[in-house]
Amino acid sequence: MHTKDPAVSGIQSTVPSYQHSHNVYDSLINKARELGCEQAVTIHTNTIAVGRWVQLKCKYGCDEYGKKLTCPPHAPSYEETKEILREYHKALLLHGHLSWQMRYITAEIEKIAFSMGFYKAFGLGAGPCKLCENCETTAPCIRTMDARPSMEACGIDVYQTVRNHNLNIETLKNKSDEVNIYGLVLLE
Ligand code: SF4
Repeated sequence: MHTKDPAVSGIQSTVPSYQHSHNVYDSLINKARELGCEQAVTIHTNTIAVGRWVQLKCKYGCDEYGKKLTCPPHAPSYEETKEILREYHKALLLHGHLSWQMRYITAEIEKIAFSMGFYKAFGLGAGPCKLCENCETTAPCIRTMDARPSMEACGIDVYQTVRNHNLNIETLKNKSDEVNIYGLVLLE
């Protein structure tokens, strides 16, 4: 039924107009595995934890703080991330062991998801962008199709988010400990 009532139209615009079938999610999961992910799971975005403290770890603990356009303070703030997450309800959480590989996979899965109809698809990788030898932070990014901020750069609590899905992540005690790396692709 068509209605011109602006109040009703406003409500309708917040309701997801289209949801993909399970086959489409399975296809994306298979693609992620083909690209090198150990695990890939579809999640509801209300299980993604965000915290204001997360960017403290970037500011006081990472040598790349302020040196990459994908990192704080250039990355979306904690407040922006909370707002952005409200605009999605499904995402793909990806698990691997190498941060460069996860950055590549999240960007690729975003492109594949877009071509499959997920027009809002957006990937969030892990760690600082390393695509250019020097990141010129006073100019726009020169590889905007490939460079994506990490989950943590946007204020996402990766540990809590991962644990909300019973996946493995621990702080490292020794250099020889296995590293678990996660990426996220917001879908719809
Ligand atoms: S692609 Fe290059 S310019 Fe863009 S954020 Fe990465 S390092 Fe910086």
